[in-house]
Amino acid sequence: MATRYRRLLLKVSGEGFARPGETGLDGERVRGLAEQLKVLTAEGVQVACVIGGGNILRGARSAELGLDRATADYMGMLATVINGLALCDALESHGVPTRVLSAVEVHKVCEPFIRRRALRHLEKGRVVVLAGGLGSPYFTTDTAAAQRAVELGCDVLLKATQVDGVYDGDPRQVPDARLLPRLGFAEVLERRLRVMDQTAFALCRENGLPLVVFGLDEPDGIVRAARGEHVGTIIHD
Ligand code: UDP
Repeated sequence: MATRYRRLLLKVSGEGFARPGETGLDGERVRGLAEQLKVLTAEGVQVACVIGGGNILRGARSAELGLDRATADYMGMLATVINGLALCDALESHGVPTRVLSAVEVHKVCEPFIRRRALRHLEKGRVVVLAGGLGSPYFTTDTAAAQRAVELGCDVLLKATQVDGVYDGDPRQVPDARLLPRLGFAEVLERRLRVMDQTAFALCRENGLPLVVFGLDEPDGIVRAARGEHVGTIIHD
């Protein structure tokens, strides 16, 4: 089956690297991600992957940890490098050529993020794992995902996350909240729906970048979303 998108940006939140409800890394989850990305690259789709770090540390915990916010944010960015290296290793053991590019320079283990280099890797069919977010504190990896997707000319942003799509209410608080399968950008704003942080959402909206939000646990969710099958919620103009 042909993949619908030529080049896509996949955002995997840190939870995708850990067992549900746990922190740290889970080999099986990482291998599962790698297997799906292998299918996509075999179909000729170019894949850039922005990695979250919430399974290890989020900067928002700075007060609780007694840390300065910017320091905690840098620690969060380094957490994404750890996840990125784990994914790279799993991809390579599945025979998928991969490069980790980080916005926070860690020369010993990965390349720095350089746009033209990232594009070259993508053109050569390598999975580009983008770690380190945007390299600046007070941002999230969702914002990094939206920014890199636009910068790298991706056709879509696939956001694999803990919830299986966008609901008309918080499903944890509103028992009859309904999943909304298709939305326009304006509708998300009008209805004040929670999709991703505002900076990330604004980048997608302003650049007309379609966004698919779906569950990490959706079987073959990444492959199906990339093929244009309906998974979770699609938001577009
Ligand atoms: N972070 C940051 N700047 C960025 C991206 C990430 O400071 O450009 C930090 C921030 O502290 C964040 C952490 O890295 O909480 C991990 O990223 P995120 O929370 O977005 O991961 P996810 O929720 O996707 O697992």
